Amino acid sequence: MVSNTDLSDALAQRLSDSGLRSTPQREVIYNVLLTKRDHPTAEDVFARVKPEMPMISIATVYNCLETLVQCNLVRAVNFERGPTRYCPNLHPHAHFHDEQTGATHDIDLPDSLLGQVKSILPPNFDASSVEIIFRGKARPAA
Ligand SMILES: [Zn+2]
Repeated sequence: MVSNTDLSDALAQRLSDSGLRSTPQREVIYNVLLTKRDHPTAEDVFARVKPEMPMISIATVYNCLETLVQCNLVRAVNFERGPTRYCPNLHPHAHFHDEQTGATHDIDLPDSLLGQVKSILPPNFDASSVEIIFRGKARPAA
């Protein structure tokens, strides 16, 4: 179990690597993303931060999320037609979008498979990232 102090240290380190300061708002928002990893939208994050920081504005939430994405602590995920969602899982992974519940699940992407996917590109195409999104229905695991 990682303590809160460790988390804010890691956050502060990442931010300072990008020439930024850690702020209470950035800490609380990062914590919210780590606590419930369900790919929340900015509005969801706003609702979760509010009880802890009643004075925070939606604009601040957007700014903080943008900052966390810029320093590579959080991934912004876009499904067509939907608002941007935020994911703190930095390991290579695909997303499974459950069309019935709207839930988004992380699916681990082994390096070997990632290499194979990239290998289909023509040699003059250099991918900086790959996004794989499955859509369908997730049944309860047997
Ligand atoms: Zn994810």
